[in-house]
Amino acid sequence: MKKYGVIVIGGGPAGLAAAESAKKAGAEVVVIEREARLGGILKQCVHDGFGLIRFGEKLAGPEYAERYIDEVKALGIECRTLTFVTGIEKTQGGFVVHCVSRDGVVSFEGDSIVLATGCRERTAKQVLIQGTRPAGVFTAGTAQNFVNLMGKLPAKKCVILGSGDIGLIMARRLTLEGAEVEGVYEVKPEPSGLTRNIHQCLYDFDIPLHLSHTVTRVFGTDRLEAVEVAAVDGGMRPIKGTERIVECDALILSVGLIPENELAESLGVKINPFTKGPDCDQSYATSVDGIYSAGNALNVFDLVDYVSECAASAGANAARGDKDGKCVTLSRGAGLLSYVPHRICLDKPHDKVVVFFRSAKDMDRATLRITVDGREVFKKKFAFLRPPEMQRLEVDFSAFGLGADSELGISLEEN
Ligand SMILES: Cc1cc2nc3c(=O)[nH]c(=O)nc-3n(C[C@H](O)[C@H](O)[C@H](O)COP(=O)(O)OP(=O)(O)OC[C@H]3O[C@@H](n4cnc5c(N)ncnc54)[C@H](O)[C@@H]3O)c2cc1C
Repeated sequence: MKKYGVIVIGGGPAGLAAAESAKKAGAEVVVIEREARLGGILKQCVHDGFGLIRFGEKLAGPEYAERYIDEVKALGIECRTLTFVTGIEKTQGGFVVHCVSRDGVVSFEGDSIVLATGCRERTAKQVLIQGTRPAGVFTAGTAQNFVNLMGKLPAKKCVILGSGDIGLIMARRLTLEGAEVEGVYEVKPEPSGLTRNIHQCLYDFDIPLHLSHTVTRVFGTDRLEAVEVAAVDGGMRPIKGTERIVECDALILSVGLIPENELAESLGVKINPFTKGPDCDQSYATSVDGIYSAGNALNVFDLVDYVSECAASAGANAARGDKDGKCVTLSRGAGLLSYVPHRICLDKPHDKVVVFFRSAKDMDRATLRITVDGREVFKKKFAFLRPPEMQRLEVDFSAFGLGADSELGISLEEN
């Protein structure tokens, strides 16, 4: 069995950025990807808008991925495609990664692992829609795969449930391909996607957005024939008497993404209840020494540029393989939906820590505060915050005089 310094699981943008930086930091690296081609979800994201921060250019998803694929190839990094990781074993010296591939069962030995396995879409079962089980109910990512990779149109007239970014992008894509999008229905009183996507994908194409509405039932035996939609109350319960039947042959779901962490959980990695990804420190080290997490497996990001940034850092740190030392937990205060990192390791550099966070609700003129033992040590004001728009800031935690017993907190307040 060949031994590697860093094994990267997942060949999407996170895995590619992690592999590149681990190699540049001197490690022998292998990338393991279950699909035939590298690039992850970006392969099917043919719209533009990627790379504005990372490259200062508006790129399509495949173009963004290609830049990293070219770099990985130029560095001579070994990439095993059509290889599915089925399990990871912890050994005395590191880890053994077991896979199935075209060559049968294969295993790889490594000192550190970067988990860059991306995320999954929530399905109809997870949003409790009543009725029959006809064909024609797809997640937005599946519909996107049909249209953009297979060249097939999965709907003539459809309803979209959920206003997440993938659903918004698919509303525009299906319209451009000749399908009718009857409307986008969102159970919450505000949209879940980026503001730019609401404008560019719905308003520019006259597609109605119905806030505080949901799909309550589907009809059809072999193929979907109609759905029932209804308004919801403040507790997101359908309001009797507001039901309406919409004839359509497809229901497209864009109801959330969940980080893919079966491998992490099998190793006993602690999962954060708010991000649903691994609990991590500022180097993206998880609670298990030698296991790092990056990209959408760590935290569902809305911009791939941030995915690449965090993954590059995870890869370089995995190559160095610093052990977890004295850590201070960054406790969640009011006003925050989620944030990364969850703890600050005092034995690792902590002067330029990148903090990613989302507010719990829409906020006008909000202040983010970091406190040590109840004393404010950092604050930053924001004109406007929305949960779908992840924020990034750099914090010098080394200036706060942190000790192992310090109580470190982070919170958001609307002024
Ligand atoms: C529809 C859509 C539109 C988007 N639009 C934008 C946009 O306009 N601008 C923007 O900046 N960002 C956008 N994004 C976000 C961006 O695409 C993601 O943030 C990014 O792709 C996440 O990268 P990742 O590497 O973490 O995950 P992924 O791209 O999902 O890659 C994970 C990889 O891991 C592999 N894998 C998983 N499990 C295993 C296993 N057990 N064994 C082997 N391999 C495995 C998968 O096959 C996959 O290739 C969009 C995303 C989607 C879905």
